[in-house]
Amino acid sequence: MYKRVLLKLSGEVLSGEGARGFDSERTSFLIEELRPVIEKEIQLAIVIGAGNLIRGRELSNMRGSRADELGILGTIMNALYLKEALCVNGFETIAVSSIAGISSLVEHRYDTIEDALNEGKIVVFGGGTYLPFFTTDTAAAVRAVEIGADVLIKGTKVDGVYDKDPKTNEDATKIDRTTFSEAIEKGLGIMDIEAFSICQRYGLSVRVIDFFNKGNLFDAIIGGKTGTVVLP
Ligand code: UDP
Repeated sequence: MYKRVLLKLSGEVLSGEGARGFDSERTSFLIEELRPVIEKEIQLAIVIGAGNLIRGRELSNMRGSRADELGILGTIMNALYLKEALCVNGFETIAVSSIAGISSLVEHRYDTIEDALNEGKIVVFGGGTYLPFFTTDTAAAVRAVEIGADVLIKGTKVDGVYDKDPKTNEDATKIDRTTFSEAIEKGLGIMDIEAFSICQRYGLSVRVIDFFNKGNLFDAIIGGKTGTVVLP
């Protein structure tokens, strides 16, 4: 069983697949998926995306960097939403971001993170990498290495990695285990290349799971067979 986990969640876990905004049923589902993890005293940090609010590449009417800044702000909104939802449900949580100007809303002293995790608090990272042209997958890889996580679990809407796109290829086969080199060579769409290279360089395993399927997160954390494992 992993002791310290970095969970990357797409913003869509807060809205439902393909939907926008915040949905209370989806939020309750998320809370119930996290409950057994916290009850088992697994240290949990979350990097949240903003796909439920805005993805920079969807805004073609402005500079890419400005569009991405809006996306980055979206991840902070989600971090605050998630923190609030977790606290209301009895889970001690801090939201972390080093973006200046909103320090009254989020924790920005990075040395508090280690203490928070050791005290059993959930740490939610907002703001991605704070750089335009990056994604929250890369932020998840950076934060996972930074906090010394045992694994990066990527919660998605597919049940793992396939040799071809399962939506368009009926004969697509699910891969249970692979390596970063093999994934790059075969062009397996798991995470962006920046995230991959950080995980590979620092020897961090990634597990890709279907987060929308009840029980998958806990199964992945206790070393079950859910999803696909990518090894350094
Ligand atoms: N973003 C960014 N830099 C980062 C992380 C995110 O510019 O380090 C912006 C980017 O516009 C991205 C958006 O924030 O499209 C939301 O992040 P992401 O697409 O990773 O969210 P997800 O799809 O996981 O919900």
